[in-house]
Amino acid sequence: MTNTKAAIETGWNLDNSYARLPQSFFSILNPTPVRSPKLIIFNSSLAESLGLNTDTLQSSEGAAMLAGNRIPEGALPLAQGYAGHQFGHFTMLGDGRAHLLGEQITPSGERFDIQLKGSGKTPYSRGGDGRAALGPMLREYIISEAMNALGIPTTRSLAVVATGESVIRETALPGAILTRVAASHIRVGTFQYVAQWGTVEELRTLADYTLQRHFPEVDADENRFLNLLQEIIKRQAALIAKWQMVGFIHGVMNTDNTALSGETIDYGPCAFMDTYDPATVFSSIDTYGRYAYGNQPNIAAWNLARFAETLLPLLHADQEQAVKLAQDAVSSFTELYHYNWLRGMRAKLGIFNEEPEDESLIEDLLSMMQKYSADYTNTFKALTFDKAEDSVLVGTPEFIKWNKLWQARLERQRESKEASHQLMRDSNPALIPRNHRVEEALEAAVEHRDYSVMERLLEVLSTPYSHCPEQEYYSTLPELTNRLYRTFCGT
Ligand code: AMP
Ligand code: MG
Repeated sequence: MTNTKAAIETGWNLDNSYARLPQSFFSILNPTPVRSPKLIIFNSSLAESLGLNTDTLQSSEGAAMLAGNRIPEGALPLAQGYAGHQFGHFTMLGDGRAHLLGEQITPSGERFDIQLKGSGKTPYSRGGDGRAALGPMLREYIISEAMNALGIPTTRSLAVVATGESVIRETALPGAILTRVAASHIRVGTFQYVAQWGTVEELRTLADYTLQRHFPEVDADENRFLNLLQEIIKRQAALIAKWQMVGFIHGVMNTDNTALSGETIDYGPCAFMDTYDPATVFSSIDTYGRYAYGNQPNIAAWNLARFAETLLPLLHADQEQAVKLAQDAVSSFTELYHYNWLRGMRAKLGIFNEEPEDESLIEDLLSMMQKYSADYTNTFKALTFDKAEDSVLVGTPEFIKWNKLWQARLERQRESKEASHQLMRDSNPALIPRNHRVEEALEAAVEHRDYSVMERLLEVLSTPYSHCPEQEYYSTLPELTNRLYRTFCGT
């Protein structure tokens, strides 16, 4: 009776389908309680869409739940096992500092993983302390919510709770726990783990579970695992093209950070490119540029090849045939990605129909941007509003020539100038979470416990295509380019 009452008050409606999978896939254990949970930020609109009671969750009882001190009704906390290729090297990983509480079934019948990150040690923690620092958790909150507002599939952030405990990194930092909401946490690395250490039966169970959870429309016949591979490839091709459209650099595209749902996951050393340069890298540990902006599509294809390898026992009884099927599927990625990229870029230039020369028109613009160190986001914004004077490209001989070709191209389509302008407004964000603005918000929050800077930033980032005057401040460039900006992961 009390259970039901509590569930109604909080709105939790948790199922635990992952916990019904073979036991070797996870470890059941509770989060480690923290000293004094304090809610720092709470995503009311996300909570409402999940069917959660926003008042209860923002009370001290709610903060205790979002800190792992109190287990919500219906939760069965577990840490997931997975492996992964990190910078190309295969290793056993798993949730070293995260607990899946369960899957929230929303009022509209959708299913979302609710996971605490920074919630204590697990059997997969290796040498880690199982904890997270406030700065990086707020950073994940800001960037994931910005990505969602940009229309890019992503895990989301429900809350950040300060723990009242310190975590020791290079110095002592305030500790925090993020509540992450995801379509699921099934990764390429989850399949790698089962393929490496499990049985073929377990692999089939995981593949069927993934199909049921993310691709219910795929027929349950003997071709279903090839279909699974193809559908996952399609989603990755669409996702990476969307990243490229806004200049998002993930920073650690390891196979354990590639979600099969097609959502962006694991916001560690990610950042947005300012000056256009395909070689842009932000992560301090990516010394060889493996995960540079321009290399993201190649790495996605590489990660998908690792995924395809795990499926070989399921694709065909004859392993040579299985390899052939896998190779054909993986090689389709390049074309699918290119199709998505071209479609997205046409929209950024206000182009509706297709002409063979479109690609060179786009490439010429990007080359100019690179040559003149133009800001990626602001250049497209200047083109959208016909304000070439806002761009360093204005007056250059290349731009004058290119602009004529572009204008002529726009004339050759049926759609009006206004329709083109609208398409560009909808395809070119007014702003992205600029690194210096994110840092400013984090510094106020972490150093001075002033969360207002972050709240204002989140507010403007929530409508990136509205092109309103309040966004101007957030569109200004840093005095020095961010190319020297470095981000750190695992913190
Ligand atoms: P990431 O770079 O965030 O994808 O993390 C890679 C792996 O390291 C994952 O298995 C994490 O769970 C684990 N990990 C990262 N930080 C910690 C930590 N402080 N304690 C335990 N495990 C961690
Ligand atoms: Mg990870």
